[in-house]
Amino acid sequence: MVPEIIHQCIKRIARIPGIGQRHASRIVFFLLRARTHVTNPLIQDLERLCALSSCTSCLFPCEPHETNLCAICRDPQRDPHTIIIVEKETDLLTIEKAKIGQGTYYILGGLVNPVQPDPEHYLNLQPLLTRIAKDPRIKKEVIFALSPTAAGNLTATYIERKLRPYPVQCTRLGRGLPNGGDVEFTDEETMSAAFMNRK
Ligand SMILES: [Zn+2]
Repeated sequence: MVPEIIHQCIKRIARIPGIGQRHASRIVFFLLRARTHVTNPLIQDLERLCALSSCTSCLFPCEPHETNLCAICRDPQRDPHTIIIVEKETDLLTIEKAKIGQGTYYILGGLVNPVQPDPEHYLNLQPLLTRIAKDPRIKKEVIFALSPTAAGNLTATYIERKLRPYPVQCTRLGRGLPNGGDVEFTDEETMSAAFMNRK
């Protein structure tokens, strides 16, 4: 009775983190009802979204640009030798909102999974290592702004080990972030204190 494409859309939307089957089916029937005001414009927006490229330096999404660098990495006021490592784009936005320092970022796109061996297969560190290896006479600071969870700590330790051959000072956010908490949902004051107390 239900057209196949509706099932298909529900299945796809249910893959979005935080959205289950029931929520997905409500979204799909809403999209069907709201074709003019929501769905058709959304289709065009999604096409533009898919056309975005990634900053070659920090991997944040950016408009295709001749340098392929995002606005932060192109900003001459930013210190390219201070690299704040985050798990995801929304963590970067939270840190930017707290207006901490003038460093640049690197987005991992995930964390080390303790049950999945060989993180080199799913954690893209090559652009980071290229950045670190550039200008070897300049000492870099790498700040791990990862959520204080088991996976976050494991990831920081793994990357620290990879960076050992380079002139890098590694620090982690200090106390303040609640254990098991999430960088994304940390308020500005707590985030600012965690950066000040990094060690
Ligand atoms: Zn960038």
